[in-house]
Amino acid sequence: MAAAVKAAAWADLVEIRADFIRDLSLRRLLRKKSCPVLFTLRSRREGGSFQGPERKRLECILEAAQLGADYVDIEYSAFWQVVLATVPPRRVVLSYHCMDGIPSDLEALAESMAATGAGVVKIAVRAKRLADNVRLLRLLEDASSRGLNLCVVAMGSRGVPSRVLGPSWGSWMTFAGLPGGEAAADGQIPADLMTGRYRVREIGPATQLFGLVGNPLGHSLSPALHNALFAADKRDAVYLPLEAESFADFLEFDAAVPVRGASVTIPFKECALEAAAAPSSEAEAVGAVNTLIAAGGLRRAENTDVGGFIRPLRERALPAGLRALVLGAGGAARAAIHGLRLMGMSVCVVSRTAARARSLAACFQAEWSEWERIPELRWDLLVNTTPVGSQPHADQTPVRAADLTGGWVYDLVYNPMETRLLREAAGKGCGTISGLEMFLEQAAEQQRLWFGKRPQAKNMREAIAPPRQEPSD
Ligand code: NAP
Repeated sequence: MAAAVKAAAWADLVEIRADFIRDLSLRRLLRKKSCPVLFTLRSRREGGSFQGPERKRLECILEAAQLGADYVDIEYSAFWQVVLATVPPRRVVLSYHCMDGIPSDLEALAESMAATGAGVVKIAVRAKRLADNVRLLRLLEDASSRGLNLCVVAMGSRGVPSRVLGPSWGSWMTFAGLPGGEAAADGQIPADLMTGRYRVREIGPATQLFGLVGNPLGHSLSPALHNALFAADKRDAVYLPLEAESFADFLEFDAAVPVRGASVTIPFKECALEAAAAPSSEAEAVGAVNTLIAAGGLRRAENTDVGGFIRPLRERALPAGLRALVLGAGGAARAAIHGLRLMGMSVCVVSRTAARARSLAACFQAEWSEWERIPELRWDLLVNTTPVGSQPHADQTPVRAADLTGGWVYDLVYNPMETRLLREAAGKGCGTISGLEMFLEQAAEQQRLWFGKRPQAKNMREAIAPPRQEPSD
């Protein structure tokens, strides 16, 4: 009951997933409902947890309709004819779920479901690729042109566009989870993020799409940051996690759902450079792209990691000629080494895989050494570009405290904001620089490239501040 009341504060329609609720008093719940209710008693076959006989399930669904549920859900694989003959069809949501992909005959299936006369047809499939969202968009376009009430959902981490953009594509509804609660389906986004971060109710045909392209995306700060900046600047824009199977998968999605600007992360930074029609000289020098800008039919490709990396060093007026030791030889190391060389520092790179350190050093006229030799190496500035020390392994550190013998330590890890490496470096009297500074700077540059204007520093700080606690009642 408490969950239903909480959900009503966010939603236009509350789905009662009766298969997840023990000792449900439906009569009481429906008597006290404060917004329209969709009653669902999902069978195990279609991803739910109801285990009883089908006859009992039918009885419960019909009883819910009789007691005042505004809509009842019935699967296309079950006794929908009985439900449609008993409940007014406009109150019936006829649903189909495919947990492991999209059936090849999806369009024909939607057609025959619509022919039943059910008020709403719901199709939930699993997106294996980002471009799978396009198939659902086309289905919605067809349904809209024929005045049919269709709701589509792509489950999984690659289905985010269908969930957030679905209503603007014509989906009759989109599903969201209870804030702080367990998701009822894979990839479901909590209602507070749907309405707050993604402003789903404000998205319309003119809303510009931005996103983070990578795989996997984990818990990146970028969607929270960029969406908060869009909201602060009152932009009709949304920034989504766009997890893609490959960069080609992203390009296929982008061809149908134009992405106005994107941040690019592992493992696509190099592919994005290869695919770029107009890479910047910085992106070419680093050999990686982290920002895409669509302008006038052309996709520009930039690298804001370099500027983002350098700025905190310049702000601290670190002089040229310092000796920098770079840990790691991946994409972030490339941007850092290029930046350090631009600042006139000498660079030595060490990596767990010595061959990677050697080949990276050769690209940037730097030196290299073996990881095991870190304690012997002398440096003024230590730069960690490995993920060591990031969540969920925040207790780890790439270098022992005893070996922190130089003047400055710069940790590119920004999750947590203060890493063990930085804590121990401060304890040894080193100056420290958090990866969060680089992260914010590269994001501010992305906004400048997308909109021609840097966001205000105040808005940046507010965007990453921990959320205020909701008052409890
Ligand atoms: P990447 O391309 O995968 O490279 C990671 C590097 O770290 C590789 O050289 C890898 O060595 C090394 N490494 C991984 N695990 C290690 C371990 N346990 N011990 C020693 N070395 C290890 O990743 P990336 O794109 O460079 O990103 C690296 C880190 O930088 C991430 O934590 C990322 O979040 C952070 N980053 C921060 C910013 C920012 O704005 N602050 C920007 C970009 C990246 P092998 O070659 O042996 O695998």
